[in-house]
Amino acid sequence: MQLHAIAEIFALLVGLCVGSFLNVCIARMPEDRSVVSPPSHCPACGAGIRPWDNIPLLSWVILRGRCRDCGTSISVLYPIIELMTGLMFWVLFHRFIPGPEALTQGNLLAYGLICTMVAMLIGQTFIDIRHFIIPNEFSIYAAPIGILGMWGVSSFGVDYGVIASGWRDAAVGSVLGGGSLALIMGAYWLFRREEGMGMGDVKLLMMIGAFLGTVPAIPFVLIVSSLAGALVGLPMALFGNKGLRVAMPFGPFLAFGAILYVLHGPEIIARFFPGVSFLLQSS
Ligand SMILES: [Zn+2]
Repeated sequence: MQLHAIAEIFALLVGLCVGSFLNVCIARMPEDRSVVSPPSHCPACGAGIRPWDNIPLLSWVILRGRCRDCGTSISVLYPIIELMTGLMFWVLFHRFIPGPEALTQGNLLAYGLICTMVAMLIGQTFIDIRHFIIPNEFSIYAAPIGILGMWGVSSFGVDYGVIASGWRDAAVGSVLGGGSLALIMGAYWLFRREEGMGMGDVKLLMMIGAFLGTVPAIPFVLIVSSLAGALVGLPMALFGNKGLRVAMPFGPFLAFGAILYVLHGPEIIARFFPGVSFLLQSS
């Protein structure tokens, strides 16, 4: 079997395991509990989960979504998040390492960094939907990883166009991302005297900017996330219960914009904004 095919399957399996860890983060981070101890246990009966019942995706299917000890049902979100993360790692592998000749240290580092960002975006999305918070661990605290990582990637001479080109682009992207969103929030507050978004969103875009760089990433993510937010939010506001103010987290839309940019950003920009195609750094 070819090394590239083995690496591809490995990427999928790593993604499934990372998804499994994200499930722990999603359950524990909003409560400020450690994500490493105690080991996983059933939230209903407290029984420890045996290693062989903790295999991503497979265990949920074998146990038919129920705890082996007390029979309490386990949310279908667990295998969905595992599968989603596994598939994303697999798709990104094709994007960043398309063939055997692309299996280089520089490319693997770039791929690993983008997987790290995407994993945080998936985890953050489910936490934000349920709890309306974005943990610092998945946003601002990870910005230095992006800046340092992009310094490493550029030292290999790798330039994908969709990730920051060097640590300077990453650092400025981080400040530009957070700054522009903070400005939008400020303007919104001046007009409406209410907070449209939270500081969590500002810190999240600082993390995204540290991985994707300045232009065209930041404007792309801002435009796509605003459009997607409006597309989902307007019907909710129009047809939702009268008098009920629709609260909607913005983090998932920023995550959507960033992931769409990594997967198809250059194609979308070339198709819809041909005038700014020169901004694509890929040479
Ligand atoms: Zn149980």
